[in-house]
Amino acid sequence: MVDFTFTEEQEMIRESVRDFARKKIEPIALKMEETHKIPDDVIEGMAEMGLIAPTVSSKYGGQDFDPVTAGIIAEELSRADPTGSIPVFYLVQASWGHVFNKYGTEEAKKEILPNVTKGKWFLGIATTESDAGSDVLGTKTTIQKVGDKYVVNGEKMYISGVREAYTRGGGHVTIAKQFPEKGAKGMTLFYLPLQSKGIIPQYVDDLGREGISTGGFTIDNVEIPSHYIIGQEGKGFYIVHEGYEYARGLIAVICAAAGLKSLERGENYLKQRKAFGMPLAKFEGLQFKLAEHYTKLSYLRWGAYNALWTYHQEILGKASRFEVSKAIAMSKMFAQEWACEAIDDVMQWQGAFGYTRECVDQVAWRAVRSFGWAEGAKEIMKVIVSRELLGKDYTAYK
Ligand SMILES: Cc1cc2nc3c(=O)[nH]c(=O)nc-3n(C[C@H](O)[C@H](O)[C@H](O)COP(=O)(O)OP(=O)(O)OC[C@H]3O[C@@H](n4cnc5c(N)ncnc54)[C@H](O)[C@@H]3O)c2cc1C
Repeated sequence: MVDFTFTEEQEMIRESVRDFARKKIEPIALKMEETHKIPDDVIEGMAEMGLIAPTVSSKYGGQDFDPVTAGIIAEELSRADPTGSIPVFYLVQASWGHVFNKYGTEEAKKEILPNVTKGKWFLGIATTESDAGSDVLGTKTTIQKVGDKYVVNGEKMYISGVREAYTRGGGHVTIAKQFPEKGAKGMTLFYLPLQSKGIIPQYVDDLGREGISTGGFTIDNVEIPSHYIIGQEGKGFYIVHEGYEYARGLIAVICAAAGLKSLERGENYLKQRKAFGMPLAKFEGLQFKLAEHYTKLSYLRWGAYNALWTYHQEILGKASRFEVSKAIAMSKMFAQEWACEAIDDVMQWQGAFGYTRECVDQVAWRAVRSFGWAEGAKEIMKVIVSRELLGKDYTAYK
């Protein structure tokens, strides 16, 4: 990819999302630290603007947006919300909406997706368990076919949006073992409504993203209809990576935006604050930090859009799954670290104030830090890129 220009339509979408975010999100963003929820009118506004799962087909209330356009929305939401809550609410549904739209049954799509795009229901992803995160094959949750239904048993943990789906409606794209003896070929993906009988939620007190919950749930003999199967039985392990890769590309954009926005606040502070008779901005030691962070985050932003563009090329049949996996993993590999390093320096520039809860940048740091794990740990990005470079014969984990 050499031409980095966005289309006229994409620029218009950016402008309208930016305008919405300035008016509706910026004023309430920090309040979510205390309220622990995204205000209903923000969700309603996002739905009216077509910003919830815009990757879904217009047939089910979506916008048919491609991954780069989805990235533009993620970037603007991230710039407006330092808590990271609305970007997470957005990215999860955009990514798993794409998967649902591609692999869900017609009956399930008609039933579920319009409720998601209207902002009534939340659509999440649930693969992680207490004993299995990066190693998806370590999943213990099971799904069994019983007559014309399926029965699910197990638990999921560290899942985004549990409270949202449990209380508002909706559910999670979930993975379980159907044929344990078949390894990766024995896993099945399905939609699990969180209001089902047999689901008991629990919540974790995580460090940031206070407007959206993280939690888990036990799954006790939960029955789901056969049309909730996503893709075919035994294909879940492969399909789930398509969703994770979409999400990782969006996360890379979100990290770059959060870091660059923090740098902008930092630049203002450096110009205003004086020490030793001159603005901090005159000290070369601080200037160099600014230049380094800006350069790294700009490369991160370009790399993220390149990864999302590569994803789009695959949708158009012009790139392979492997090219997508590599480009996406490269984009997420340093996303959290580079953004957190930049934000940490902006906190440092603000002296003791940087260590107070009033400092917006510590909120942003806590949000971005989550992306060192969420939707795939940064170490796993290195596993993926090495596998693509060296070939599967040199992969330690089959
Ligand atoms: C805020 C938050 C929200 C989340 N939301 C969701 C969600 O919505 N849905 C969901 O399913 N999951 C979610 N997760 C879970 C996330 O996907 C997992 O944390 C991640 O996959 C890592 O799994 P783990 O935590 O079990 O760590 P482990 O897999 O146990 O790994 C522990 C550490 O070892 C490293 N490691 C593991 N294997 C290797 C290896 N082969 N080589 C080198 N290092 C390795 C890991 O990178 C990590 O640093 C969320 C996590 C967080 C923090």
